Amino acid sequence: MDLNNNKFNLAEQDLLESLLESYYLDDDQLDYINKFYKEIFTINDNEKCLCNSKLTWEKCCKKKMDDNSTEENYISFFQTINNPKLKSKYINQINKYNKLSIKAIKESPCFINNCQNKKTAMNLYSADELMEIKNKNLKEDTNEAYLINVLDKKHIIKNIDTPFLNKENVNDNYKFYAVCKEHKKIFNNSKGKLNKNLIALISKIYKYEIVNKCYQHQVVNFYKNLQVAEQVFLIIKWRMHNNVLIALYDDLQLMADNVDNENNNFVTKLFFLPNTNNFLLNDVILPPVTPITFRPINSINNPFLKKKPLYIHTSKTQRDKEDKLLVTFTYRKEYKNLDLYFKEWISKFKNNKQIESWISGIVISLSDQMLIQKQWFEKLKDSEIKIMNLHYYYRFEHPSGSQQELSIQTFYNNLHKSINIFNKTLKIS
Ligand SMILES: [Zn+2]
Ligand SMILES: [Zn+2]
Repeated sequence: MDLNNNKFNLAEQDLLESLLESYYLDDDQLDYINKFYKEIFTINDNEKCLCNSKLTWEKCCKKKMDDNSTEENYISFFQTINNPKLKSKYINQINKYNKLSIKAIKESPCFINNCQNKKTAMNLYSADELMEIKNKNLKEDTNEAYLINVLDKKHIIKNIDTPFLNKENVNDNYKFYAVCKEHKKIFNNSKGKLNKNLIALISKIYKYEIVNKCYQHQVVNFYKNLQVAEQVFLIIKWRMHNNVLIALYDDLQLMADNVDNENNNFVTKLFFLPNTNNFLLNDVILPPVTPITFRPINSINNPFLKKKPLYIHTSKTQRDKEDKLLVTFTYRKEYKNLDLYFKEWISKFKNNKQIESWISGIVISLSDQMLIQKQWFEKLKDSEIKIMNLHYYYRFEHPSGSQQELSIQTFYNNLHKSINIFNKTLKIS
């Protein structure tokens, strides 16, 4: 499987990475790169198609675009901005494409190594893990928890008050379709040190594939009739999205073949923290910057910079005869700025409370595959929920201006008394 379809060669990639060492790319710099260096706002004929078919753009979606003629009405994002009356129509339209994409991805073959088998349903968290979040000790026994469904209609256009968590039955937690029955066995490998990371990864790929298909649908069917600004908007969104997907598939190839991590392709960092059932976490995140020197790790704005995923999961363990929550971080060993990320964070921590705040910041600001215990969430103050929504709004709604904003928020979250997801809920006896 050739997933290495980034169109930069190594020297060019190095150059771009070193450029990013000194500043963030903003929209002006993207204009510059587009004019003198590489096309960003359009797609080159010989470029690998952004739908990840491994064919060139010319032979893939561009061709489909020429073959397809649709009578269907399309409302662009730009029309929606200029005419608020179209907002709900736009949301329903994208929601419809999302549903079509979900169906298409479910029915497409297994994600692993050109396997042509049918996909089987999987859940992100196991039944054992779910027992913890259900919290049998509490009088108010429940099968519900708070989770984030990025494909929910309410996320298509958000405002600052959009509640980002849904209350759902934990037994349907983050159901996804990514691999066939045969490949599902990889996750039962007893020596598989990366098992949980691999599940987080394919669950993430499932979601990114759905959104990618949604962009593909819009480009193939409606691109030709759009104004230039609308075309640019669609292409750059699709490109940025696909850039994450490329990095995820790149990791999938490496991880699925070496789930025991025998070759030490991945390094881990462990944090032993006070035991809590307030949340479960198994996710792949894209931390933007290191916390002291602000060195970039992942740039939201630059669609060519290779993304550097960081895996994070929680598990229960014992240490010094005490129950602990173990938070495990995993990343590819060649990602040196992630080494720096941990070095800088660790140098900031003076006590466990600060590590708890940091993890809380990650759960709230960077994750979308967490489960948050119902009892804990429902004890939060309105003002605290507003802060959580704000984090979320900035993260997804303002990607172009949010990198510095996000780092400041994370910094703030860790300096001041903020939401601590390790804090106990009120005792119910
Ligand atoms: Zn294509
Ligand atoms: Zn398979």
